[in-house]
Amino acid sequence: MSRKWIVGVDLGGTTTKLAFVTTEGEIVHKWEIPTDNSNEGQNITGNIAKAIDEKLAEHDQLKSNLLGIGMGAPGPVNYEKGIVLNVVNLGWPDNYPLKDRLEAATSLPAAIENDANSAALGEMWMGAGAGAKDLVCVTLGTGVGGGVIVGGKVVQGINGAAGEIGHITAIPSGGAPCNCGKTGCLETVASATGIVRLAKVELAKGLKGELSEKLAENSSITAKDVFDAARNSDELAKSILDEVSFHLGFALASIANTLNPEKIVLGGGVSKAGDILVDPVKNNFEKFAFSAVRDSTKLALATLGNDAGVLGAAWLIKNKLNQ
Ligand code: ZN
Repeated sequence: MSRKWIVGVDLGGTTTKLAFVTTEGEIVHKWEIPTDNSNEGQNITGNIAKAIDEKLAEHDQLKSNLLGIGMGAPGPVNYEKGIVLNVVNLGWPDNYPLKDRLEAATSLPAAIENDANSAALGEMWMGAGAGAKDLVCVTLGTGVGGGVIVGGKVVQGINGAAGEIGHITAIPSGGAPCNCGKTGCLETVASATGIVRLAKVELAKGLKGELSEKLAENSSITAKDVFDAARNSDELAKSILDEVSFHLGFALASIANTLNPEKIVLGGGVSKAGDILVDPVKNNFEKFAFSAVRDSTKLALATLGNDAGVLGAAWLIKNKLNQ
């Protein structure tokens, strides 16, 4: 067992999460810095290096105590080459050599992965995966992210774009536009944004109930409002939940029919709704799953919350250095 630490970084468009993690997966220190995406994102790696040095000084630790730095970044990532292929909200040019830039800025060995894949690795290592080597993670947040792990390895695909579960087409015709340029993606119905959109479409028809009162009160509604109203048996909210869980259960069953993973782990802010979401998703999943899949693939809630990303990023280094 090494007593050294790994730096795990979860890079987001507005906030960068950092953590010092032991090779056993224990978070020793975690903190956040703002992501500076001005100047074509050229300050990002330097700011991370500075934040690490400051934190080491704060805790009287030497740089030699660090084994390496792993990072989950938005957008498709080529793990082998260490490049981010394209990402819209960080200012980086296409094919950005993030791994090299990180190594230059921090003088540490680096490894990078797509952020959803990082979160999946975190759950595999320390969370709901609990050692499962065949695992699919679906993050239901502002968007819908996915990470597919087969035999303990992230499935990258030929262009780093495997596991884009949010962009499975759920509504083949007449669906809402998605950020990716297509229409009717799963993300347009099963993300927090999608759930609110569905609610607004229904409310625009003049239907009254708890949700219309919330909208009148706050001039906006959230996905949590929809789940709360469904718990109170609000008809409109229940019908939205039916629609969301149908599409999600159907998509997850199709993924499971292809991969038969040990677990499908649901994470992200929307998953905090708990049983009111998971139960109907399970019902639909069981309806559409092949029998041998239905009997073996389990749905589970993520357990690491916001720590999944930094833990998975740290795991990249643990795995790479065989620690
Ligand atoms: Zn899409």
